[in-house]
Amino acid sequence: MKTAAAVKTCDMLINGKWVQARSGETREILDPGNGEVLARVPRADREDVRDAVKAARDAFDKGPWRKTTALERGKLLFKIADGIRAHGKMLAELETRNNGKPLAEAEFDVADAANCFEFYGGLATKIHGETMQVPANSVSFVVREPLGVCGQIIPWNYPLMMGAWKLAPALAAGNTCILKPAEVTPLTALELGRIIQEVGLPPGVVNIVTGPGPVAGDELAANHQVDKVAFTGGTQTGRKIMSAATGNVKRVTLELGGKNPNVVFADADLEAAVDGALFGAFANQGEVCSAGSRLLVERSMHKALVDGMLKKIPRIKLGHGLESGVKMGPLVSASHRETVESYIQIGKQEGAKLVCGGKRPQGAAFAKGNFLEPTIFDDVKPAMRVSREEIFGPVLTVTPFDTEEEAIRLANDTEYGLAAAVWTKNVTRALRVVGQLRAGITWVNTYHPTYNELPWGGYKQSGIGRELGLYGIEAYLETKQVNINLDETPIGWY
Ligand code: NAD
Repeated sequence: MKTAAAVKTCDMLINGKWVQARSGETREILDPGNGEVLARVPRADREDVRDAVKAARDAFDKGPWRKTTALERGKLLFKIADGIRAHGKMLAELETRNNGKPLAEAEFDVADAANCFEFYGGLATKIHGETMQVPANSVSFVVREPLGVCGQIIPWNYPLMMGAWKLAPALAAGNTCILKPAEVTPLTALELGRIIQEVGLPPGVVNIVTGPGPVAGDELAANHQVDKVAFTGGTQTGRKIMSAATGNVKRVTLELGGKNPNVVFADADLEAAVDGALFGAFANQGEVCSAGSRLLVERSMHKALVDGMLKKIPRIKLGHGLESGVKMGPLVSASHRETVESYIQIGKQEGAKLVCGGKRPQGAAFAKGNFLEPTIFDDVKPAMRVSREEIFGPVLTVTPFDTEEEAIRLANDTEYGLAAAVWTKNVTRALRVVGQLRAGITWVNTYHPTYNELPWGGYKQSGIGRELGLYGIEAYLETKQVNINLDETPIGWY
């Protein structure tokens, strides 16, 4: 580990100023690949969050932001996209150091974050209302307005990208924001704050507070000066946010967990399905809400698919995300690795067949990081906990099925409904099955591609509302009707 003197102390962004927590408390931020202390960040408590909320409230109610035109807001978002690209190398390396993901994946996230600001920069000028014909002599129309102050709480698996998905649509719509990154991965969000400040947004429009979820996050969810809370994280936390938000009936959108089925029919291209199954399960160390963590395979292809995966698994090179050729980094924290390992124990005890992985890789290169081998359980019964609960790590379960009907039943046999994929060469079957999957994001003969243009979110306990696309900006707009009476005669009711 570095000595304390060498470690950078970061500030958080409140009301256009870079500040420490009022208490002066900080948290050490670690590189999960080697345990090195990367930085210290403020440990915001409720008072700090209230300062940020006041700044965002004032910026919305009294500041110049409300008077900016959609065109001006759009141009500012384009500049943020440019800023992200200009600092792309630094951001990608920092994301890899802080989260652990391989550099190539962090580079993808940086590109996606820039594209997201650009997408919503373009959309800022397309927000529009409508006029309605009403049964009276009235000009009646509908206008869209920003919601106000938005509290935005994000997880640790895609720190920069999640920040972009939250801030870009909210700013395009004219809101003010308080973004709270996850405790362990705040560094790229703070850098994003710097880029946003360089672009010249008025003070208080974007605030970034670093603090513990149950304190700083809960304050954002509960504070009556906040008009909306947008949350991405676990379903249990989502329930707490929803209930904390009831005090002032604030708007709530939730992007929660998943236990997503990846369904392979025997007529699928075997090699493509092998790749899709591995990528679906192990990209980003399997720390993905939409990971294809439940592989359902038609029995006649079962052996070939598992053999194909086992043959390719050695190509998933583990290591620090900055090392060249690495395909899987460390898990985000030591405690998260322990949680994932506890599920591996549960799987073994339940009688699932461990066919690869299940342990920490050996050797000096792995000694200080939170590494875990990609793990596959075969012959998993649908009732087993490893098949039902979100593990959020590199653990794939494989369950064979015999009929299309059974595949659909198994796929939907979950409290979640985020993502699902189908592999088949039969287009009729693909559409028939997709039509019956209770999930918000579906793929045919692929896994994982996401687009800023399309709505992201889940059915059932995977969330409420949608992010991205046109739907994403809807979630940051109010709707107002305006009626202009054209008949000047008094109504004469009394
Ligand atoms: P988490 O729920 O523990 O934390 C997410 C965020 O909520 C963090 O910023 C945390 O500080 C904050 N938080 C924690 N307790 C809080 C509370 N009581 N009140 C307010 N805020 C609180 O989740 P995580 O471990 O960071 O992320 C993993 C989870 O996120 C997984 O379940 C994953 O599926 C989900 N996720 C979902 C999506 C999606 O788009 N649906 C995307 C990424 C991650």
